[in-house]
Amino acid sequence: MIKSALLALFTVSFISGCATTTKDSISGVKRSQLLLMPASQITSMSSKTYLQTLNTAEKAHTLNIDQSQLERVRSISNNLIGQVSAFRPDAAQWKWEVNVEKSDQVNAYCMPGGKIMVLSGLIDKLHVTDDELGAVIGHEIAHALREHGRERMSQAYVQQFGLQAMALFFSKGTSALAGNATTQAANLGSKLFFALPNSREQETEADKIGLELSARAGYNPEAAITLWQKMNAQGEAKSPEFLSTHPANANRINELRALMPKVRPLYDATKMGAGR
Ligand SMILES: [Zn+2]
Repeated sequence: MIKSALLALFTVSFISGCATTTKDSISGVKRSQLLLMPASQITSMSSKTYLQTLNTAEKAHTLNIDQSQLERVRSISNNLIGQVSAFRPDAAQWKWEVNVEKSDQVNAYCMPGGKIMVLSGLIDKLHVTDDELGAVIGHEIAHALREHGRERMSQAYVQQFGLQAMALFFSKGTSALAGNATTQAANLGSKLFFALPNSREQETEADKIGLELSARAGYNPEAAITLWQKMNAQGEAKSPEFLSTHPANANRINELRALMPKVRPLYDATKMGAGR
């Protein structure tokens, strides 16, 4: 009896948990997603992890030490953030943060809720143009807009704890087990964001939304392709960290090329309007 009630509850949660995070756009991304854990919980976990990262970098004197680099990254990020409403209006109200950590790593990420970090190796080793920086940060912001981290955590949670724990988790009950499940989820979540790579499907979505976002923000969308070519060239010498989770295969570049005619007018419009 209790079991069937839990299963019914789970079914309701499951249905309400399947949604799409972004609205329909030129990018064509509208896949329905499994989103079981509350977004607020994921955001809160991410904020704590991000703060820890900032504190560690601060102590190591690697946080925002190059002022001109920081201003450049913040300026480009802010232009991109200014266009997120095209995909989800609520994201304009997120508590966005943008920082640069000095590192040899060629990498960048945006944690759930809009916590952006660019590792300086990306800028120094690839000699990225503003358009290319717009492409890579746009791609990372797109992961956050699509809540890919929350989606991965939801999938992992179901695998880890099963249906019954999931039902208790959503019962908002005061039982010890429900509380325990919440704590476990919180601990699990912070590990998962960094441990679980995005799926190929999530990468394709981030490419597409990122391309549209950067075009809307006034960055030449063609830069997404030159960025991947630079990554590949760098990869032959020494594998950039970004490439290990973002393989730049021919298919990836072909998909970007296919979307180019649709997003180019957005970019052209910014040039005509603002004269940047
Ligand atoms: Zn990605």
